[in-house]
Amino acid sequence: MRLLLVEDDHMIGESVLDILRAEHYAVDWVKDGLLADNLLRTEAYDLVLLDLGLPGMDGVDVLRAMRARKANTPVLITTARDAVDQRIAGLDAGADDYVLKPYDLGELLARVRALLRRATGRAEHRYEHMGVVIAPNTREVTVDGQAVVLSSREWAVLEPLLARPGAVLSRAQLEEKIFGWEDGILSNAVEVYIHGLRKKLGASLIQNVRGVGYMVPKA
Ligand code: CA
Repeated sequence: MRLLLVEDDHMIGESVLDILRAEHYAVDWVKDGLLADNLLRTEAYDLVLLDLGLPGMDGVDVLRAMRARKANTPVLITTARDAVDQRIAGLDAGADDYVLKPYDLGELLARVRALLRRATGRAEHRYEHMGVVIAPNTREVTVDGQAVVLSSREWAVLEPLLARPGAVLSRAQLEEKIFGWEDGILSNAVEVYIHGLRKKLGASLIQNVRGVGYMVPKA
């Protein structure tokens, strides 16, 4: 497994590098956003550990550029505990998970393992409906053959619906899936993400079941 560590703080970088190498991961470490962006355009990594406050190029911009290229490498962002806005921006830009600094190295390793497991345990399962093809394990989505990128929170809404096509989930059940991504959830958050998903994936994929909730039809 080859990891890219992007961290400009020397002491944090050293300790993370040590613990990752002790776990036998191959790790490249860069301390600058521009360098990270260049590497990610030319090298193949299994996971990126990305600090957001970086010289050269902001971590969120590095991430946005990756996702704009349809690079689906798992990205674990590392942010300060009080930087909630930064964390939300990172998740919206396509980060898969985050750890808060100062972090527990054991927790960091557990999150790295979880993301790698998710990415490498790619099952062949595919959901297809009227030109929309979704591979839930890799998060690859195409509409009429064109790749589409979903935000983490759009995934959080879509995933439970896709897990059981034909089953209806209430708004409250879907809210639970996105709660925790931010401190205060807007009362219409589910509707907002459903609206976004319909714009990207077509109006017929997620159906309203009046008075009950939402479902995706059986493929
Ligand atoms: Ca930093």
